[in-house]
Amino acid sequence: MATKEDFYKILGVERNASDAEIKKSYRSLAMKHHPDRNADNPEAAEAKFKQIKEAYEVLSDPKKRSTYDQFGHAGIDQSMGGGRGGAGDFGDIFGDMFGDIFGGRRGGGQQNAQRGSDLRYNLEISLEEAVNGTEQKIRIPVLVTCDTCSGSGAKAGSSPVTCSMCHGHGQVRMQQGFFTVQQTCPTCRGTGKQIKDPCSKCYGQGRVKDEKTLSAKIPSGVDTGDRIRLSGEGEAGQLGAPSGDLYIEIHVKRHAIFNRDGANLSCEVPISFVTACLGGDIEVPTLGGKASLKIPSETQTGQVFRLRGKGVKPVRGGAIGDLMCTVKIETPVKLTSEQKALVEKLGESLSNGGTHHSPQESSWLNGVKNFFDKLTG
Ligand SMILES: [Zn+2]
Ligand SMILES: [Zn+2]
Repeated sequence: MATKEDFYKILGVERNASDAEIKKSYRSLAMKHHPDRNADNPEAAEAKFKQIKEAYEVLSDPKKRSTYDQFGHAGIDQSMGGGRGGAGDFGDIFGDMFGDIFGGRRGGGQQNAQRGSDLRYNLEISLEEAVNGTEQKIRIPVLVTCDTCSGSGAKAGSSPVTCSMCHGHGQVRMQQGFFTVQQTCPTCRGTGKQIKDPCSKCYGQGRVKDEKTLSAKIPSGVDTGDRIRLSGEGEAGQLGAPSGDLYIEIHVKRHAIFNRDGANLSCEVPISFVTACLGGDIEVPTLGGKASLKIPSETQTGQVFRLRGKGVKPVRGGAIGDLMCTVKIETPVKLTSEQKALVEKLGESLSNGGTHHSPQESSWLNGVKNFFDKLTG
């Protein structure tokens, strides 16, 4: 492995930076280098993102920070890589709620054996909530760290002892034919500890089933398939190991009026036969209220009018989309005999005088003629 860059340098803070400064810098850097926000070069972004995260994990933890200040990377690598330290040592690094936007995929894949599982929660929201952002209270079933034993799995007054098989290493050497292979210790499953007297509440698991209510901030502009990560809000790890993450997967409900396609919205707008002929201003719905749309005279059914900036502002940035209004001309119904007479009169007037009033009719008729000619010829 190449020599590591200084953690303070990575986060762009002074060595005497306060916790708040470190956190602030971390958040803005993590946002900036998130792989999903750097579609042009996701690998480089991911590497940078991991680096930032690693630096933050150390500098945000007073114990690790002072070890790092004293011994540099060597001190940290040792305390992280060797047999697991005290319970909860790793636990609350990301304990604060830090929402991240993810696309559909889940990056990474390196997972610590005892780290808690990631959880997924499907959240249905309305189109308005997706566009404007929302805050939702969600209840999720989780395994949480047992409060009776603080996650150690050992009965009160006792504590886990060093595993007799692996002597706390978590790994054992096994002879297989000519080879010696190293394996996760089967007795302690890699924890390096054995529980002689298990906690009666969690039966030595260090975790218990529970439900928790979380308040999840959904940023504006999300769409179906987007995931929001709440770090450390997943399942608790085994025996005080770090918790997994909670992924909130967004599902936007169908809207009565609007369809969404990325940043653009679309809808159908019925207009009267008269407005279609003569033109006029009509009201159209937008997510922000009503808007006025100018219909030119001689508008055809199916014509699409674009209202700029009346779409959605995408959550990953970029221009606000447009609202596409597809016009549907309505044939008048329940005509009185007087109205029918007027329409008849209009029809007569349109067919006399030699002017062609139906723009699509001739090409359509030609198409039909060709079709029949082919059938019979
Ligand atoms: Zn317990
Ligand atoms: Zn063991």
